[in-house]
Amino acid sequence: MVLCSLCGREPAVAKLRYAGVVLCRECFLRYFEERVRRTLDSLGLTHELSGKLVAVATSGGKDSLNTLFLLNKLKEEYDYDILAILIDEGISGYREFKRKALEAFCDKFKISFKVVSMRDSLGYDIDTVAKLSYEGKIDLKPCSVCGVFRRYLVNLEALKAGVDYIATGHNLDDEVQTFIMNFIRGDLASMVREGPFLHEDFPGFIPRFKPLYYVPEKESLIYFMLNGLETPYVECPYAPLSMRYYIRNLINRIEYASPGTKLRILSLKEHLRTIKGKVPSPSLRKCEICGMPTTRRVCRTCEIRMLLSRV
Ligand code: SF4
Ligand code: ZN
Repeated sequence: MVLCSLCGREPAVAKLRYAGVVLCRECFLRYFEERVRRTLDSLGLTHELSGKLVAVATSGGKDSLNTLFLLNKLKEEYDYDILAILIDEGISGYREFKRKALEAFCDKFKISFKVVSMRDSLGYDIDTVAKLSYEGKIDLKPCSVCGVFRRYLVNLEALKAGVDYIATGHNLDDEVQTFIMNFIRGDLASMVREGPFLHEDFPGFIPRFKPLYYVPEKESLIYFMLNGLETPYVECPYAPLSMRYYIRNLINRIEYASPGTKLRILSLKEHLRTIKGKVPSPSLRKCEICGMPTTRRVCRTCEIRMLLSRV
């Protein structure tokens, strides 16, 4: 039996290859939670969250449920309230299962939640978008529409509910993938802008933070399982069509061959963020159609809706 590298007493349940250590259940949970707490503290949220309402944007998957679980656990200590928001994209064979997982989770932990239908709110669901895309009627992939619509609706619903902060379940792997995707697109402004906390001083923009920003996906899964949390392991059928899917598999293969790759990329990302002020980035304005914050004359959501209405 392999014993924990930290306490030396209990059997190890998690191997952190990049650090060359193995941890038992208790040491792993403590290590995981301390890292999340350190992240919140480093973002200046220790006192800032007091008396505030925090919305957790959740898909019903392990990372957003972990975020909800952790923020629920810390809410007395940091003195805030939470609300879970799930956007139902209308993806059959996927959404109904994840939605049930969220409902069961919120019932168990007595967390308020809100489910928002993309079709009811914006007039389109992602199954319809995917069908139009397959038929060649639109030059858009389901994920690119889904991501834009989902972010828009989370912000809109949070505004309606009087939310002060939005927390998302992005983990270290997500951040590294996004960084590489921005690199491939040559989008320097996004490469230096995106971090664990995003705040723009503009009406209608709700500050966002990512408690799992420094947590590798594998450790998020271990934490989820060690806490006995549950979600069906179904994947969105459109995920393999996305650039992210390709990048994720590629980075996982490189990480396997060279442990620590993801951490090194994240560290480069963090370094680049220090030059944020030197990279010109478009400023926010109000969308001429819906009034939501955007960097364009008409926001991407309104633009896509106009495009879909013409099909
Ligand atoms: Fe939406 Fe793409 Fe995620 Fe599916 S994989 S839920 S289409 S962003
Ligand atoms: Zn708009």
